[in-house]
Amino acid sequence: MSLPAVLRDLRAAEDSAGRPAGSVRLVAVSKGHSLEQIGAHVLAHSGLQPGGFALAENRGQELRDKVAELAGSSDHPALEWHFIGPVQRNKVKYLKAVALIHTIEDLEQAEAVAKAAEAWGHAPGVLLQVHNGEAQKHGADVAELPGLLRSVRQTGLEVRGLMVMAPYDDPAAAERVFADTAAQAAHLGLSELSMGMSDDFPAAVRHGATLVRVGRRLFTQED
Ligand SMILES: *Cc1c(COP(=O)(O)O)cnc(C)c1O
Repeated sequence: MSLPAVLRDLRAAEDSAGRPAGSVRLVAVSKGHSLEQIGAHVLAHSGLQPGGFALAENRGQELRDKVAELAGSSDHPALEWHFIGPVQRNKVKYLKAVALIHTIEDLEQAEAVAKAAEAWGHAPGVLLQVHNGEAQKHGADVAELPGLLRSVRQTGLEVRGLMVMAPYDDPAAAERVFADTAAQAAHLGLSELSMGMSDDFPAAVRHGATLVRVGRRLFTQED
């Protein structure tokens, strides 16, 4: 599917969830795809709705390289980059162009980002990644969230919301995870909710996602 097709599905998901058009932003996950492939499916439409979507990568070097390659072209001035991978202290330096980091799991990661941001003269917004309660490596435990929120804010970073990865291939568990994460965000007074991927974003939209991270569906050939 191309970007317009995924955006159409997203607008349909908003509509059937009774939410206003444009209340959910598409984060187009370009990891593992060359700029050529990304161009064919995504960048060709970057003028279609300025600010209507962001691009995301999950590895620092890949992100830096793609940003650098695109910087040479003036065709995509409004592109916004997000980071959705594990934040490694020694690789934070690659994230200078990033507007939003979805995946802060602990204070050490936040401190590394805050320190880099000082040198850059600008700071990315951040989301706290929540552990989904299933077999999964990443994310802070729900019980730690209030303390983590407080300490990350003390680094000077702006915490805008929560991010979660739903369990794969278990729609009922995914719904539970989306509902729980939305409740946590409301409890903490956080407005952004990054949840939902290619297979489950309509469910995430029903539960209040404000950012959906879609990769595979953007690059398959059907449609
Ligand atoms: C790859 C990835 C996605 C996109 O997943 P798809 O199933 O390809 O849509 C979303 N979020 C994170 C954190 C990812 O690593």
